[in-house]
Amino acid sequence: MTETASILAVGSELLGTTRLDTNSLFLTGELEAIGVRVVRKACVVDGWDELLAELRFALERAPLLVVTGGLGPTEDDRTKEAVAHLLGRRLLRDEEILATLKERFRKRGFEMPAVNAKQADVIEGAFVLSNRRGTAPGYVVEDGGRTIVLLPGVPHEMKALIVEAVLPRLTGGAPREGLHRRVLKVVGLGESMVEQLVKPVYEAHREHDVTILSAAPGEVQLHFAARGGCAEAGRTLDVLEAAFRAALGGAFFGRDEETLEGVVGRLLREAGQTLALAESCTGGMIAARLTDVAGSSDVFPGGVVAYANEAKVALLGVSPESIARWGAVSEQVAREMAAGARRRFGASAGLAVTGVAGPSGGTPEKPVGTVHLALDAEAGIRHERLTLAGDRAMIRRWTTSAALGLVRAWLTEGGGAK
Ligand code: ATP
Ligand code: MG
Repeated sequence: MTETASILAVGSELLGTTRLDTNSLFLTGELEAIGVRVVRKACVVDGWDELLAELRFALERAPLLVVTGGLGPTEDDRTKEAVAHLLGRRLLRDEEILATLKERFRKRGFEMPAVNAKQADVIEGAFVLSNRRGTAPGYVVEDGGRTIVLLPGVPHEMKALIVEAVLPRLTGGAPREGLHRRVLKVVGLGESMVEQLVKPVYEAHREHDVTILSAAPGEVQLHFAARGGCAEAGRTLDVLEAAFRAALGGAFFGRDEETLEGVVGRLLREAGQTLALAESCTGGMIAARLTDVAGSSDVFPGGVVAYANEAKVALLGVSPESIARWGAVSEQVAREMAAGARRRFGASAGLAVTGVAGPSGGTPEKPVGTVHLALDAEAGIRHERLTLAGDRAMIRRWTTSAALGLVRAWLTEGGGAK
């Protein structure tokens, strides 16, 4: 099997200012895991000459080329045509694919638009990868010792096809040695704090390429890798993960694809608990994160965005005296907001945030970045005061992570047990 590969992402939008090529990141991870090194990747516009030039060049540089995008029905989708042209092969209409396409549209109550018929054209001699998730099938074309894999641009279709159809074909189903990566995720600590905690561990494991990087305000990631077969590398990664987690303590929240909001949702569900929100300085950002996870309605009944003092009083039952005495950004008000949210939604717990996100509004006692978090539950109230650095966006984002981290800590320390 081949040792090296090129990746080509086709799509004019990938060269604009709004879309990033993320497909190649996923593809690289999958290829590395079967021992194939990516030596070149590129993005190219949907233009005939550019496409041909890139295909030619990529194939000169490595015997395996994985292309994503440009398999759609429209005029500008010409990946298949360009590959056929380059290899001097014809495109042949496949009646079976055509029938499947028509059926797909019929099931949704439409007649197939005529333009879609070209998605049933197959490069002569290509192996077709049928795509249950979309209209464009993928293809594997072998040519004089080179392999060209064509995949749709839509990320979830591309992922399914590479994992389910392409990799088994490339490896012949035999286990392969490769590079396996793992990501551990940490909440509420800065990069340098994480570095200090895990330094003894990574210094003892330099061969695993450990890197620490800030993923978002309030979230840091630890990346590391191991070489070998899937099971063997998995065991090495497990040992390393255990050592890192012991060093990180409660700040660790998940790994790889897991998100903080996903983990919090799962823990709430497992504990049979519900969480209501009272948000001031985050203006609904915590609610947005929680509802990013499909199926969150059974653990998240709702929240209140109470930005003005009057709203804190009217909607959450915060006492005007507390606001007058302690100020809206205070432990007392955070506690009352949390209790109010819990009561208002009949939830097992209420989570509240109130803070000074800046750039104005800071005072010597409460500088910009002062945030109070409170979690009100049957077992009692937890409170945290944060002093955050950075601009408004960073302070707000950090606050959402710290708040979700507080809920996570409550649930994992047994506070959420019924
Ligand atoms: P297909 O081959 O699946 O028909 P296409 O190029 O015809 O793909 P587009 O409409 O261009 O389809 O892209 C479909 C979606 O996939 C768009 O949202 C696009 O931004 C996204 N996409 C395409 N290529 C990539 C990529 N390399 N990385 C991330 N997203 C991508
Ligand atoms: Mg495209």
